[in-house]
Amino acid sequence: MTKPEIFDLVIIGASFAGLRCAKTAALRGLRVLVLEQKQSAGARVRTTGIFVKEAAEEMDFPAKLSRKIYGVRLYAPALTSIDLHSPGYAFHATDTPALLSWMAEETIRAGAEIRFGCAFRGLTEIAGGYGLKDLGINTRYLVGADGAKSAVAGALGLSANKHFLYGVEVGVPLDDAVDPNYLHCFLGQDVAPGYIAWAVPGPHHIQIGLAASEHKKPSIEQALVHVQRALGMERARIVDRRAGAIPAGGGLRRIGTSRTLLVGDAAGLVSPMTAGGIQPALRSGRRAGQAIAEYLLDEGPCPAALMARENPRFRIKRLQRLLMDVGLPDAVWNASLGTAPMRAVAQWLYFHRRTKGERLRLEALDRMVPTQALRDRPDRHWDWGRLRDNK
Ligand SMILES: Cc1cc2nc3c(=O)[nH]c(=O)nc-3n(C[C@H](O)[C@H](O)[C@H](O)COP(=O)(O)OP(=O)(O)OC[C@H]3O[C@@H](n4cnc5c(N)ncnc54)[C@H](O)[C@@H]3O)c2cc1C
Repeated sequence: MTKPEIFDLVIIGASFAGLRCAKTAALRGLRVLVLEQKQSAGARVRTTGIFVKEAAEEMDFPAKLSRKIYGVRLYAPALTSIDLHSPGYAFHATDTPALLSWMAEETIRAGAEIRFGCAFRGLTEIAGGYGLKDLGINTRYLVGADGAKSAVAGALGLSANKHFLYGVEVGVPLDDAVDPNYLHCFLGQDVAPGYIAWAVPGPHHIQIGLAASEHKKPSIEQALVHVQRALGMERARIVDRRAGAIPAGGGLRRIGTSRTLLVGDAAGLVSPMTAGGIQPALRSGRRAGQAIAEYLLDEGPCPAALMARENPRFRIKRLQRLLMDVGLPDAVWNASLGTAPMRAVAQWLYFHRRTKGERLRLEALDRMVPTQALRDRPDRHWDWGRLRDNK
C-alpha cells in the first residue's frame, strides 16, 4: 500500500478565500495544498468580480487587471436616476478570470501547491488530522473554502447556508452608449425582485446581470432588455455567462472544530444586503492563514474559536434583507428615489466603511486573546508517525 502524502494544511477551493488563506499560511512556513475541482482558478468564474474599496485595500493586484469606477447611477423602475459619489472612493471592475489566475500563481510562488481537476469527496478522521477520501492525502488541518454550498461543511456536520440570492449575468462587448464612470444599478420588482439588476463597464466587456430572492426565478433575458433600453445600447452578442448562489443569511455559527475551519462563502460571509462577498472572503482567508500557522507552529489559539468571534454576523443587513425580500412596489421606488432620505440610504449602502465593525471587533479581541479557554487544545501533541501511517 502506498503511503499517504502529508500536509500541514489542505484547503478545498482555489478562489478568493482559499488562495488568500494558502498564500498566507505558506509564507508563514506551513506545507500547504489547495485542491480545486475546476481545471484552473480562472475557469467558469461565478462572480461579477467588483472589488469594493476595502477589498482592493485588502489585497494589492496588478493595475492592468481592473479599471476603477468612481460613481453609482441608480435607476428607478421608470428609469429616472440619481448619481452617487463619495470623495476618495472607487470600485474596481476586474478581469476576474485573469485576477484569479494571478492569485493562483502568487500562491504557488509563496510555496503552496495547487492541484486542479481534483474534487473533495469526503474525509476520515485519523490521529492528529484527517485523511481525504480516494486521494491518498493526510492533513493536520483542513479548510473549507469551497463556496456557498460547501461539501466540507456537509462532511463535517458544520453549519450550512440556508438562505440564498441567485445571481445570473452575461458579458457583452463594450458600447460607447454606456457611461464607463458609473456602476449602473436598476431597481424594480419585475426586473430584479428582492435585489437589483446591474450593468458594469469592466476592463473588456460590459457585464449585465441581476440577482433575485431565492423563491423568485431571475430572468436574465428580461433584465437584458430593460438595461439595454435604459442605457440606449445596441442589442449585442453575448460573449460570457456567469451564475451562482449567493449566501444571504449572514455569518454562520458552527464554522469549525479544533482542526477544521470554513472561510468565505462557506462560512456565510457575504453581506445579505449588497451581496458583496469578495472582501470578506479575502479577509477571512488571510486571517485563517495567519491563525492556523500560529496554531500549528506556535501553540496559538484555536482558529475556529478565534474566527467565530471575529467574523461579521451582518445583523443590521439581515434585517434590511428581510425588508427587500418583502419588496417595495415599483410606484414607491419611482416616487421616492430622488428624495433626500432615499438618497441618504443609498449613499450609505454603497459607500459606508465596510471595515469599521471589523476594527471594533479586533480591538475587543486584542483585549481578550490569549485566554486560557482559547489556548486549551485537545489535540496539542501531534503524532506524525501515526498520521503518516494513517492509523
Ligand atoms: C453572479 C454573482 C455575482 C457576484 N458579484 C459580486 C461582486 O461583484 N462583488 C462581490 O464582492 N461579490 C460578488 N459575488 C459574491 C462573491 O463572488 C463570493 O462571495 C466570492 O466569490 C466568495 O469567494 P469564496 O472563495 O469564498 O468562494 P467561491 O468564489 O465560490 O469559490 C469556491 C471554490 O471552491 C471550489 N469547489 C467547490 N466545491 C469543491 C470541491 N468539492 N472540491 C474542490 N473544489 C471545490 C469551486 O470550484 C470554487 O473555485 C457575486 C456572486 C455571484 C453568484
